Amino acid sequence: MSHLASTIVAPATAQGGAISIIRLSGSNGTDIIKRHFSRPLEDRRALFGSFSDGDKIIDEVVVTYFKAPRSYTGEDCVEISCHGSQWIVSEIVRLLISSGAVAASPGEFTQRAFLNGKIALSQAEAVADLIASDSRASAQVAIQQMRGGYAQELRVLNYELLNILSLLELELDFAEEDVEFADRGVLGGLIEKLHCRVRDLASSFSLGNVLKNGVPVAIVGKPNVGKSTLLNRLVGEERAIVSSVAGTTRDYIEEAITIDGIVFRFIDTAGLRSSTDEIELIGIERTYEKLRQAAIVIQLIDNMDDVEELSLSAEQKLMVVLNKIDSNPTVPTPPDTLKISAKNGIGISELRFALLSLIPKGSLSQHSLVVSNARHYEALQRGASAFSRALQALSDALPSDLIASEIRNGLYSLQEITGEITTDDILGNIFKNFCIGK
Ligand code: GDP
Repeated sequence: MSHLASTIVAPATAQGGAISIIRLSGSNGTDIIKRHFSRPLEDRRALFGSFSDGDKIIDEVVVTYFKAPRSYTGEDCVEISCHGSQWIVSEIVRLLISSGAVAASPGEFTQRAFLNGKIALSQAEAVADLIASDSRASAQVAIQQMRGGYAQELRVLNYELLNILSLLELELDFAEEDVEFADRGVLGGLIEKLHCRVRDLASSFSLGNVLKNGVPVAIVGKPNVGKSTLLNRLVGEERAIVSSVAGTTRDYIEEAITIDGIVFRFIDTAGLRSSTDEIELIGIERTYEKLRQAAIVIQLIDNMDDVEELSLSAEQKLMVVLNKIDSNPTVPTPPDTLKISAKNGIGISELRFALLSLIPKGSLSQHSLVVSNARHYEALQRGASAFSRALQALSDALPSDLIASEIRNGLYSLQEITGEITTDDILGNIFKNFCIGK
């Protein structure tokens, strides 16, 4: 996908603003710019001047030059800030292409940053997450990973693994003599330590996933118990910036709110009714599918006789909530039942607090590393199983080559995360989801 020899160009900002930025990266970038910009470039300085096509001025612009290797991509980079007119942006891009640049593919700037060794693959992925983030928590997780996150820690672990492997491989070279360079006690301790760390990182995914994607919540209950009223009340108090998802009017609807920076996505089940319309049935089936994916299910009732057994999976958390407490304030309830009035706003802050308390434990401090990327999670799990097999092989006193092979499997899994080992397929998959200009 990437031809590092070429100089790539793309708009870096979305349409519609007062100012747009066009980005250029590659070794011919400065030569290409010279043909159009009125002033000679200076490293790391923003210069005001005009951008022309021959003697025709296209716009007055600010050009910032980042000389290689001190730039985002590690190559000569030029950023042109022009007025936000769609015509001006396309004209500048067109002229730069006619002067020798090529249009960048999706994510190509970030891919070059990775290929030029400026960032680990996990950091490149975090750039996309940061741009897509829609809450304090998801932005924080992404920025932590973009600034290095666990990439550095994984590199240290990889280094330790390589040391272990080289000792075991040395033993293989001296197989005839039956020597052990790697003390089995020390080796076991080291692999155990690596195994624990990798397992801990993998287990932070349940929190990381919540922080990144939000918590899916379903409100279920009989007609007229107040489900819509409750949803409106919650959304009215603090609607999240994320847009509500509505595929079609007959599809499911999601409303999101943020509580303490964490997004809770409510699946609207109001449209669930029996139907014979084929298209409507598809929509209903999708809503049921969403219900099965809910992490939290709020069973809303307006009298205690309505509490019913729901068939939930082991991971789903149930909250029984009694509504309309305003019209029946003295009704006896089990101690853990939340009592609210959706219509009058009674008990809503307690409900919000209860929702927050149901998310996985662990807080996102500057220092705690949380895995939020499914690809990393999967690789960490593979790594952890390889280390656990290595430990087993060690305790069964199996030959060095079997132990070494499991350790190598674990090492490869960790290296896939940072991109030290990668395939075109993995790279293609990651960068195809980026926008042009990233
Ligand atoms: P849904 O069918 O479960 O979505 O129920 P709705 O939200 O449409 O509410 C059904 C009826 O209950 C409406 O007339 C609401 O005004 C009323 N209602 C909802 N919440 C409360 C409440 O807290 N107190 C009282 N008294 N009525 C409520």
